[in-house]
Amino acid sequence: MRRSFYRLDRSGLSLILDQLKHRGYTVLGPKACGNALQWRPLDCLEDLPGGLSTLLAPAQYRLQTGSETCLFGNPGGLDSIKAILHPPRQTITTIRKAGDQLEISQETPPAAKLAFVGIQSCDLAAVAALDRVLLQNGEADEVYSANRANAFFLSVHCTQSGPTCFCASMGTGPRAKAGFDIALTERLEGEQPEYLAEAGSSLGAKVLEEAHALPAPPEWMRQSTEATQKAAEAQTRKVNRQAARAVIDSTFEHPRWEQTAKRCLSCGNCTSACPTCFCVNYEEQSSLDLASAQRVRLWDSCFTLSFSYIHGGSIRLTPKSRFRQWVSHKLARWQDQFGVTGCVGCGRCIVWCPAAIDITEEFAVLEQAAGSAVTAGGSPHGH
Ligand code: SF4
Ligand code: SF4
Repeated sequence: MRRSFYRLDRSGLSLILDQLKHRGYTVLGPKACGNALQWRPLDCLEDLPGGLSTLLAPAQYRLQTGSETCLFGNPGGLDSIKAILHPPRQTITTIRKAGDQLEISQETPPAAKLAFVGIQSCDLAAVAALDRVLLQNGEADEVYSANRANAFFLSVHCTQSGPTCFCASMGTGPRAKAGFDIALTERLEGEQPEYLAEAGSSLGAKVLEEAHALPAPPEWMRQSTEATQKAAEAQTRKVNRQAARAVIDSTFEHPRWEQTAKRCLSCGNCTSACPTCFCVNYEEQSSLDLASAQRVRLWDSCFTLSFSYIHGGSIRLTPKSRFRQWVSHKLARWQDQFGVTGCVGCGRCIVWCPAAIDITEEFAVLEQAAGSAVTAGGSPHGH
């Protein structure tokens, strides 16, 4: 569809939230909870983290007071919307004893109407990546399908990059290219921010028109492009994604894997924080009186020993083999399986790794070791 551009002030944005609720959406956004931004239901714009900023660094995350009145000036929340679309714990089947009989019920959730306000381009790209795995890769995952079916994305182009972001090198940001219903650019010129709103779907355009949004001044588009370009140029971390497969393949036995794995705690924080890690395991749990039992699906991590358990033993016995598996899968094997990298450059694994292991630093060492043996030529990120 042809993109249309509108201008909104804060009350216009507030009207959009009301419109979405009126249409039956549960509106969610990044909200300050405890000491971190987390995706939570929003009652109003005041629930967004206006006046707060995040400090992001390897193994460090702080939510602190900022002076800006921007609502979306915070790259880097704690979690991504993966935890909502693909929940960490989901009951799949419940079995109850009823006399001599067993009652078995499948617990597929009903189709939800979820609106995500303030989703950044890297996380939109992560949703597209999860779609490839959980919707388009054979039989669709029922839970993900139900949560994803009617999702509305009110995205925000990032005009500031966090110090751990590297979306520009992964081709996933800081500007959202696709997958949104509305994309905002937050502009702070006067005391209160204003918004350039770009409709990305017919529903997005309709919601904007219902909020009586006016056409945006033409120069706002150019200024928005310049602002996201500046944010891309400010990123100091990067991964050469075109060379990633060749680099990983030619450094499989490099000593760096062992050196870094000595710091790795196999805690799995990186896989939990990653917006594209999708692996799950199933557990059967029964009540103490044996009157009922449940089959429960839980997030799993390739950093656990049990993850690679097959035919009476685990095949990845060492932290080195598990760490190498994770990085190789993110940067190389995903491209073979799904045609895109499994990394969107959000930087969460860098922030949430207690050992401050940085995937961009690891890749840089391997890339240098691979040297001229590697020619850039892998497939680009497909987002
Ligand atoms: S590997 Fe790290 S930087 Fe890449 S998407 Fe996952 S958490 Fe984000
Ligand atoms: S790389 Fe970091 S976050 Fe991931 S398992 Fe190892 S110590 Fe934990």
